[in-house]
Amino acid sequence: MRHPLVRVVQALVFGLLLAGVAQAAPVSIVAAESTYGVIAQAIGGDKVAVDSIIRNPNVDPHSFEATPAVARKVARAQIVLLNGLGYDDWMDKMLAASPAPNRQVIHAAQLDPMLILPDKNPHVFYDPQVALLVAQRLAAVLQRIAPADAALFARNLQAFKADLARLTQAQAALRKAYPGLRVTATEPVVGYLLRQLGWTSLGEKFQFDVMNDTEPSPAEVARYEDNLRQHKVTLLFYNRQVNDPLTNRLRALAQASGVPVVGVDEFVPPDTGYVQWQLQTVRAIQQALGKSR
Ligand SMILES: [Zn+2]
Repeated sequence: MRHPLVRVVQALVFGLLLAGVAQAAPVSIVAAESTYGVIAQAIGGDKVAVDSIIRNPNVDPHSFEATPAVARKVARAQIVLLNGLGYDDWMDKMLAASPAPNRQVIHAAQLDPMLILPDKNPHVFYDPQVALLVAQRLAAVLQRIAPADAALFARNLQAFKADLARLTQAQAALRKAYPGLRVTATEPVVGYLLRQLGWTSLGEKFQFDVMNDTEPSPAEVARYEDNLRQHKVTLLFYNRQVNDPLTNRLRALAQASGVPVVGVDEFVPPDTGYVQWQLQTVRAIQQALGKSR
């Protein structure tokens, strides 16, 4: 017969184990940008603690510099989400600086190389298919790390998919209503959205120069201005997170020339979900085109 004390200890240990399961700490996730952070929150619900490093709308992600505080967060994270394609190289550097064999890293731009535009446009998060791939991969990783909550993650993924379907329908309707438009942008932020819409983007070289902080040549600028003045483009997309004299001037020129302007973001604004954010952009385009007719 076992000593009663053994049974007491066993009961205690069992109780502690149960409490541990019931109150499992949330899975810690660090997202390089809020766009991936809100997707992680949608899939993980209250079983994850998400920290989005770039989420302040006044920050230009292309020139972001990480701090030691960010490095500490990355070192502790169980899952790290980043864009890739040079968009957030600082995160790759942090990951390399704090090796952790159990940390799961999801590079959005690497999930399906076939989805990457030939010009290697890094703003892949404007493609709903990429958002879906990130959500699917994340759900699979979470199910491995926290198997007790596997059903919840599966349900959240289904809900995210249903939400995403509303977005692809809205994009398809826009594509049908305005087939084959020629547009331009101050930066190639919405390149993947334009592919969804089947629209052509003029002045790509100019856009990549602005993105890379390279001075566009006078000939490029002249051609770009011509596109606006002579209405060779139906719309101008401008990156409202970047405020510089050249793009501000082009925006003013578009307005003076009667070319509607649509402001777009580099990442999800505060208190907004991914699909909600993308639908806002679709609506802003519809509104701008409505005015131009
Ligand atoms: Zn950008």
